[in-house]
Amino acid sequence: MIPFSPPRIDEKIIDEVVDTLKSGWITTGPKTKLFEKKLTEYTGCKATLCLNSATAGLELMLRWFGIGRGDEVILPAYTYSATANVIVHCGAKPVFVDVGNDFNITVDNIRRAITERTKVVMPVDFGGLPCDYNAINALVKEPMVKALFQAQTEEQKQLGRVMILSDAAHSIGGRLDGKKVGSLTDISVISFHAVKNLTTAEGGCVCLNLPDGFNNEEVYKLLCVKSLHGQNKDALAKTKPGNWKYDIIDAGYKCNMTDIMASIGLVELERYDSESLVKRRQIVEYYNNFFKNKFWAELPAISDSRRESSYHLYALKIKGITESERDDMIQLIAMQGVSVNVHFIPVPMMTFYKNMGYSITHYPNTFNLYSREISLPVFFDLTMEQARTVCEAVQESVEQVINRKGSFVNI
Ligand SMILES: *Cc1c(COP(=O)(O)O)cnc(C)c1O
Repeated sequence: MIPFSPPRIDEKIIDEVVDTLKSGWITTGPKTKLFEKKLTEYTGCKATLCLNSATAGLELMLRWFGIGRGDEVILPAYTYSATANVIVHCGAKPVFVDVGNDFNITVDNIRRAITERTKVVMPVDFGGLPCDYNAINALVKEPMVKALFQAQTEEQKQLGRVMILSDAAHSIGGRLDGKKVGSLTDISVISFHAVKNLTTAEGGCVCLNLPDGFNNEEVYKLLCVKSLHGQNKDALAKTKPGNWKYDIIDAGYKCNMTDIMASIGLVELERYDSESLVKRRQIVEYYNNFFKNKFWAELPAISDSRRESSYHLYALKIKGITESERDDMIQLIAMQGVSVNVHFIPVPMMTFYKNMGYSITHYPNTFNLYSREISLPVFFDLTMEQARTVCEAVQESVEQVINRKGSFVNI
């Protein structure tokens, strides 16, 4: 069976983890701080906070901005549920909008959804392709849009407009106009979950890039406290002789990264551009080459004149098929020993959100893309021979279902 996205675990990773285990310091400490520094350099943001997940980072930043009851947060209907769940946790209202054909939220749809209750927009860089942050950043600075914004907390007053909180779970290393994800908008949250491009088993980070007027280093320090019980000294600081006393200055959360996780991340980041992204691009280009002449295939957007993806997902679309035909194709592909997936089942289709009153019928393009989407395996250890097996399994399965239909009138 060709797996979908196993992590790259080699001797280098194992040695670094063992080094941490033997060092006597396994929780947040020197390796986490070093990983944060390297992520800041890599992304070009102003400060980076490492955490135990991207989800924790998204929620932490909503809470830092004072999001709560009565507030609205705009997000694409086409995302993983974590993006929406954190809004619900805060007691605010998720306002879903439809996406464009590149799977990303569109500026026009954001504009239409903004009200005087909007506090945050959460764009998602689907599959690793950065959203159009230049246009999104410009939108929330427009005088008419700013005039609608009703600041309630100190942070909201200081920003003076809707905050952009990018769900960059997929897109570390993605670029827009030569700048890297992390430095494209106010806040970007990257995931290091096991299936993501750069993993720490579980993990994530918040890239702080708040505009002038904010001291990002100070915000970083505040978030360190907020992500560790609200305790004013972390475990490492407390180990200094005589430095045992601490205070709780906030009912904080507990979502810090450990040095065991950071040691995996340090190895992964070191070789991310030179090895991981090179291989991912090679696989994606192989798939594109194979599928480009198939009349039924719609290739994913992976780059254009201004953007480049991090090649997280290969989201193939099949022309003119229904959701159940897509499901049949996946079944046939699996029978040939290839693991594929669907990214994502749109959030408004999930039971919890349906029960809240959301309906996928309001997001027609999201449903259209979802119903025809199949994600193919992309991971470092995938050989080109396996990539060929994947392509052939997809071709055979797709054509079998299309032939069964007996007509191409819809295509
Ligand atoms: C994986 C993912 C997340 C959550 O990341 P975790 O690190 O697992 O919390 C959030 N949003 C999207 C779009 C994701 O794919």
